[in-house]
Amino acid sequence: MSTYDVIIIGAGPGGYVCAIRCAQLGLKTAVVEGRDTLGGTCLNVGCIPSKALLHASHSLHEAQHNFPKMGLKGKSPSVDWKQMLAYKDEVVEGNTKGIEFLFKKNKVDWLKGWGSIPAAGQVKVGDEVHEAKNIIIATGSEPSDLPGVEVDEKVVVTSTGALELGKVPRKMVVIGAGVIGLELGSVYARLGAEVTVVEFLDAITPGMDAEVQKTLQRILKKQGLNFVMGAAVQGTQATKTKAKVTYKLRKDDSEHVLDTDVVLLATGRKPFTDGLGLQALGVDMAPRGQVKVGRDWQTNVKGLYAIGDAIDGPMLAHKAEDEGMAVAEQVAGKHGHVNYGIIPGVIYTTPEVASVGETEQTLKDTGRDYKVGKFNFMGNARAKANFAGEGFVKILADKNTDRILGAHIIGPSAGELIHEICVAMEFGASAEDLALTCHAHPTYSEAVREAALACGDGPIHM
Ligand SMILES: Cc1cc2nc3c(=O)[nH]c(=O)nc-3n(C[C@H](O)[C@H](O)[C@H](O)COP(=O)(O)OP(=O)(O)OC[C@H]3O[C@@H](n4cnc5c(N)ncnc54)[C@H](O)[C@@H]3O)c2cc1C
Repeated sequence: MSTYDVIIIGAGPGGYVCAIRCAQLGLKTAVVEGRDTLGGTCLNVGCIPSKALLHASHSLHEAQHNFPKMGLKGKSPSVDWKQMLAYKDEVVEGNTKGIEFLFKKNKVDWLKGWGSIPAAGQVKVGDEVHEAKNIIIATGSEPSDLPGVEVDEKVVVTSTGALELGKVPRKMVVIGAGVIGLELGSVYARLGAEVTVVEFLDAITPGMDAEVQKTLQRILKKQGLNFVMGAAVQGTQATKTKAKVTYKLRKDDSEHVLDTDVVLLATGRKPFTDGLGLQALGVDMAPRGQVKVGRDWQTNVKGLYAIGDAIDGPMLAHKAEDEGMAVAEQVAGKHGHVNYGIIPGVIYTTPEVASVGETEQTLKDTGRDYKVGKFNFMGNARAKANFAGEGFVKILADKNTDRILGAHIIGPSAGELIHEICVAMEFGASAEDLALTCHAHPTYSEAVREAALACGDGPIHM
């Protein structure tokens, strides 16, 4: 039996970041991971492989559509799907091996296998029981299921199967117009599949700024994605190579069937805590399966903490990472903190979408007086030059104090631009503070400054 200051169960972005920070803070640390590789959902079957395929398919789109406009002539590239998957796998391997290196560098032990918690202060891996002063649950999440939809990961797939299809399908039906469905739907649409997204609600990407939702849907439609909105999927019927998706339109209860080669079930994810033994330990759980924690991420069992997708909040890698660092500080006797009001959310479609803080809807709901500063990328020289003039930056600021309350960007590099606003918000900046900051020309960032100017006396280039 070995004894640790901290044992973390799960080596996703929550768990591995937590482990590295614990080790940096001088704690004897181990991580239990059942997968063959480190990095969790994010590095193995989530953020990283999906972004590799988005990058590859976006490059194809650029070559097909924008190269000729810039005088770059020649045959546009064709798709070697096997090679594209090999590229994606190489990216994944490089990243997961990187975490192994960081564990060695920081002297974090990897206890290989699936862990459980037989008693407070103990973690069992295989036949071995290890003792730990602190145990951190970072076991992440798994795809949600939908009644009537049986996943075989070949014809009816979750995001995991969608990252390694045998070939690019001719037709794909995506159930759910959330981030994962739209990103992977975009990949296959760019590669030539006829993609239809079936969504229960009347708007895509629930919870996002309504203007962004509409703009993104319009742009994706232009890129060839079909949308069936307000549709409740009743079920799927699959053979070895084809499937039928039956749905009912909520407005009139009429039933419809879509024939397809592949169905991607992308209706969200649920916390994964199977096999840990939490019920026997008496750990409080939320009705939707999350581990309940207090402000210090501690459960109702002393010394047992939980972070990341396994607890409440947005299921995002960087939220898990922040919690990982904060809980490490906490168990080391410091004061870990996560500002849940400033966690950006990004959709890596083209154009990208990024948002942080309040939406107009949440401000209306709380009756807060606010003003809107908006700037279209069509007024941004760099964006126009790069065929990226679609979209806008929208900053929401308090009407009286000018303090920035939120921002919503759809446009080029939105996922990078949003951080300027996150930093500004962390420092309690006003829109004027951003507007008075010199921004290099020509950059996409100038559009952020112009939106900030639009909160005051007005933008220059619009
Ligand atoms: C297709 C896709 C794309 C995504 N893209 C993005 C994105 O672009 N940006 C973003 O922020 N988020 C994205 N996400 C979400 C992101 O992957 C998750 O929010 C993040 O991985 C959660 O981190 P985590 O550490 O909580 O858990 P996970 O990454 O799920 O890691 C948990 C780990 O725990 C292990 N584990 C579970 N139980 C045990 C046990 N009993 N013993 C040992 N090991 C165990 C699992 O094997 C797993 O490796 C995406 C997700 C998917 C599916």
